[in-house]
Amino acid sequence: MTVSQDLLEILRCPHCVSGDTRKSGDDPGRLKLERDGKWLVCQEADCHRKYPIKEDIPVMLIDEGSKWMNTAIEDLPEPGKLVEERSMSMSSAESPAATCNEGPSPMVWIGMGAAVVLILMVIGGLFMHRNKKL
Ligand SMILES: [Zn+2]
Repeated sequence: MTVSQDLLEILRCPHCVSGDTRKSGDDPGRLKLERDGKWLVCQEADCHRKYPIKEDIPVMLIDEGSKWMNTAIEDLPEPGKLVEERSMSMSSAESPAATCNEGPSPMVWIGMGAAVVLILMVIGGLFMHRNKKL
C-alpha cells in the first residue's frame, strides 16, 4: 500500500511548480510521504498543502491539497476511496419529495472527473519533468 519511490521522485506539489505560484530553486515542491504512505506533504516552508493517496493513487490536485493546509499531519484522516462506491440502484428517478441525500451522489461524478484530471496531471507531470532534464 505504498507509492513507489520512483513515482515519488517525479511527483511535485502542483501549486509550487506551476504558474505564478512557482517556488524558486532548482527543484521546488518536493513531497514527503507521511502517515504510513497515505499522504504526500509539500516540503515548501510556506505551502502546507497535503495530498491524499487513495488506493495507491496520489491525488495531485491543488484544490485537494489546499483543503488540508490547516490540518496537522497527525490529524489527517484516512484518505478513503478514489471513487465512492456507486449506488446499485439507478432506478430512483428524481421525485419532488426526495432530499439531497437520496439517489446517486453528485460526488460520484466529481470523483470520476477528479480521477480523469488526476491521470492527465500525472501524465503532464511526467512530461514536464522529462523536458526539464533534457
Ligand atoms: Zn506546495
